[in-house]
Amino acid sequence: MTRAGVISVLLVIVLVIPLIGQMSQEKVDLDAIYRIKDEGLNRSQVMEITSYLTDVYGGRLTGSPQIKAAAEWTEKKMNEWELVNVHLEKWGPFGRGWTNERFTARVISSASTFPVIAYPKAWTPGTNGTVEAEVVTAVINNEQDFEKYRGQLRGKYVMTTAIRDVPAEFQAPGRRLTDEDLTNLTNQPVQPPRGGQGQRGGPPNLGNGRGNNPANFNERRLKFLVDEGVVATIESSQGSGGTVFVQSGGGRNVTDPPVPPQVVMAVEHYGRIWRMLEKKLPVRIELNIENKFYDDDLNSFNIIGEIPGTDKADELVMLGAHFDSWHTGTGATDNAAGSAVMLEAMRILKATGLRMRRTVRLGLWTGEEEGLLGSRAYVTQHFADRVDMKLKTEHGKLAGYFNVDNGTGAIRGVYSQGNEPIVPIFQTWMQPLKSLGMTTLSIRGTGGTDHLSFDAVGLPGFQFIQDPIEYNARTHHSNMDVYERIQAPDMMKNSVIVASFVYLAANRDDKLPRKPLPAPQPINRGQ
Ligand SMILES: [Zn+2]
Repeated sequence: MTRAGVISVLLVIVLVIPLIGQMSQEKVDLDAIYRIKDEGLNRSQVMEITSYLTDVYGGRLTGSPQIKAAAEWTEKKMNEWELVNVHLEKWGPFGRGWTNERFTARVISSASTFPVIAYPKAWTPGTNGTVEAEVVTAVINNEQDFEKYRGQLRGKYVMTTAIRDVPAEFQAPGRRLTDEDLTNLTNQPVQPPRGGQGQRGGPPNLGNGRGNNPANFNERRLKFLVDEGVVATIESSQGSGGTVFVQSGGGRNVTDPPVPPQVVMAVEHYGRIWRMLEKKLPVRIELNIENKFYDDDLNSFNIIGEIPGTDKADELVMLGAHFDSWHTGTGATDNAAGSAVMLEAMRILKATGLRMRRTVRLGLWTGEEEGLLGSRAYVTQHFADRVDMKLKTEHGKLAGYFNVDNGTGAIRGVYSQGNEPIVPIFQTWMQPLKSLGMTTLSIRGTGGTDHLSFDAVGLPGFQFIQDPIEYNARTHHSNMDVYERIQAPDMMKNSVIVASFVYLAANRDDKLPRKPLPAPQPINRGQ
């Protein structure tokens, strides 16, 4: 061994011993972890829960009758497991509900008639019964295009997006994180300072307030299409292989401006129609879209259930996931997966009969897809409103919040969300879970889901690192977000991991460490 080697060994000892000292204070009850694994890996119900949420209740768009029915089933299940304080907690207003009740589509060309894969966008109106009409193309990108198409679209189906190439898929749609991916996640990214003109990122503001705002332009484009009297608009989907990605096309408020019926079509079928039109062949489409709006209750709800604690019962550990989804698939990976894992974690904890010092509370959120609305409302009602940061009593009582919302993929680690003191704690907790593939602690934060609602008011909220599987390639917000895309072994492991983390958080002497309280965010409007 070289001299430098000896010095570095000494250095490691000097640096690591205090860390071990710190870590050894962190207790992990391995008998409890054994019992959680035994229940979760040998008597799992997570796929049965998933099948109810997806196969039976289907897409769970916030405000729809389906999500209400799924929530009622979930309440019933939690009562069967003898959870307490099971209820739907109202928040709102969210806006109108919406469902698609019927959709048929066929194309009629001079040579043949054929069906197509397509879906209506949420919060758009239907056709009045079956409507057969000529189809034309009108890709409107700027002001001049309004003049180009004015007076030509009445009574027609209008294809509104340009055709695109569909390359072969040489990469498999599904993947797991590699060792290299996981190593990268352990490194703290350091961004060079941006700008130099006192500007902090973002494109320069060209705004004259008219026409440069894309949302504003899209509103005017939709108004133009309504005023011109189109039957419906048709756009091609992202992706390929018959997979169609569909979200919203209209407003949730009764007073929002009207939009035309809007349909998203599989790119291959869209391309076929487009190429016939390019050959100057007449093409007609026949659609029957029956959509329904629900105006009677503009509020939504979160689903709550608890396991009472013992000597620290007034303190809380929370686990949660969003329960809502988009409407064309059955919301399987986004996010029946997370909801089922959280429900199964509660079932496991209850079934093992393990004693937990703090009360464990499950929150299944709605309105996530429209901007983390349900979790934010819950955090505002119970903990603090980020706008004024006036802390409510429960703010001091929450030990931590754990969230799952990255699909079916196995949990491979956890994001510490920049919380430095949590790192050695989670490192210790992960030890008995490494055999399930959970090895990686990232100092990074991750975004896009409900733990942010907690983080925004200074509460320790965490999201796990998960294998992406087919999330972006196939399932996320698509018609193919269905039960078949859920990986049972991953779901079972995830339930055990979440139950273990919740158990350890519930029984720790102290609540989990927090980052400094953020300042009020009076102009922060969103996520
Ligand atoms: Zn989503």
